[in-house]
Amino acid sequence: MIESINPYTGEALEKFKELTKAEIETALENAHNRFKSWRKTSFKERAGLMKKAARELKDNKEEYARDISLEMGKPITQSIAEIEKCAWVCEYYAENAEKHLSPRNIKTDASKSYVRYEPIGVVLAVMPWNYPFWQVFRFAAPALMAGNIGVLKHASNVMRSANNIQKVFERAGFPESCFQNLVLSSSKIEDIIKDKRIKAVTLTGSKPAGAAVASTASNEIKKSVLELGGSNALLVFKDADIAESVKTCVQARFQNTGQSCIAGKRLILHESIAEEFLDQFLLQVRELKSGDPLEEDTYIGTLARVDLAEDLEKQIKESVKAGAKIVLGGKRDGAYIEPTVLTGVTPEMSMFKEETFGPAIGVTTFKTSEEAIDLVNQSDFGLGVSVFTENLDFAEKIIPEFEDGAVFVNELVKSDPRLPFGGTKISGYGRELSADGIQEFVNKKTVYFK
Ligand code: NDP
Repeated sequence: MIESINPYTGEALEKFKELTKAEIETALENAHNRFKSWRKTSFKERAGLMKKAARELKDNKEEYARDISLEMGKPITQSIAEIEKCAWVCEYYAENAEKHLSPRNIKTDASKSYVRYEPIGVVLAVMPWNYPFWQVFRFAAPALMAGNIGVLKHASNVMRSANNIQKVFERAGFPESCFQNLVLSSSKIEDIIKDKRIKAVTLTGSKPAGAAVASTASNEIKKSVLELGGSNALLVFKDADIAESVKTCVQARFQNTGQSCIAGKRLILHESIAEEFLDQFLLQVRELKSGDPLEEDTYIGTLARVDLAEDLEKQIKESVKAGAKIVLGGKRDGAYIEPTVLTGVTPEMSMFKEETFGPAIGVTTFKTSEEAIDLVNQSDFGLGVSVFTENLDFAEKIIPEFEDGAVFVNELVKSDPRLPFGGTKISGYGRELSADGIQEFVNKKTVYFK
């Protein structure tokens, strides 16, 4: 049995029976068979259904959001915002998939030569609990619009949300088995990836999970896309607008109770503005209201599981032992961790070199821009960096120096259906969203007429 536990109350919410071998076989066979007809549907037909999925999400956002908050402790207003964003990605691909996948003519010595973008079949998505809907929809909307079929292995602590996602597509009127949630523990995933009906796999989550899934896929010569989290820097130069950048940095670190791959996890401040910045930063962090995730004015909920809060507590303690200083917070109660700020953080400390998945941030200072860029790039992760400066020419100049998949200037790193999303280094490979995302799981077929 797979169980959902409310991390705020510790109460068991629901148990889910794992699929049997025979049920897995039926699910995969149905998905495979559905592909044969789904791949022949028109973009117009798929777009009509995808727009209905967006409508379904908007019409029932409170219902879906409540289950997210109950299962993983996300404050309710942020759960509702997540559902609204899922509706956006459905609408985006309903409107743009055909354009992104229209054949591309290439002039050669042929009478006609071009590239066609064709669906590949059933794609497996292994997804995490931090944005239980969004992580899945940003895969599912482009996959289905491309003519592929989706099967989901969701994180074990958010199975109710996983079933709800299947329900969204069913209620929208998608043909049966276009999108299925497989109630499975991760130990069953290797065999599923090896199944010849599965053509590719995408995973969002930790490095060990990504490495396990990608190595199985590569042994089978199947494509994988990995989105493995990050340790984004918030880099504040001395000419930054302090009030604006403080506000943005607070949101970058503490929204979703800090459990976001693209959260700003390392605050890197020019030494001349560090004190002023930090004073304002601490004032704003103190105002973030912790509490019941179902209350509308709660901004900080609990972490999704007690063990995740314990992990973060350990990273904080290790960093303190290595010389960092807690200037705010630091205490844990079950799955809850107080918003925490540490100063004097250096690159060899856990708060700097590991991914910290919760409401805690480490502050490091720098003297020169070379030193700042070096600090940003010292991370093994490479998802994104936020740069705060009023000198936009300077910002343009240093953009090529960063090793990350994204640079946001005077803004927090955020995902947007119109922009490619993904990382470098141990943050993974491949891109989601935009034209790049929908082109990951297609056969780019070259056609040549003599
Ligand atoms: P995991 O990476 O273990 O879980 C993510 C997904 O992968 C889940 O569906 C999980 O299933 C599955 N999974 C785990 N191991 C395997 C495996 N060997 N083979 C196949 N599937 C697997 O994340 P955790 O929940 O353990 O979180 C640990 C840390 O990972 C966090 O603290 C954070 O640092 C990072 N993380 C990053 C995320 C991101 O957005 N990039 C999201 C979530 C976590 P199951 O739940 O059944 O184990």
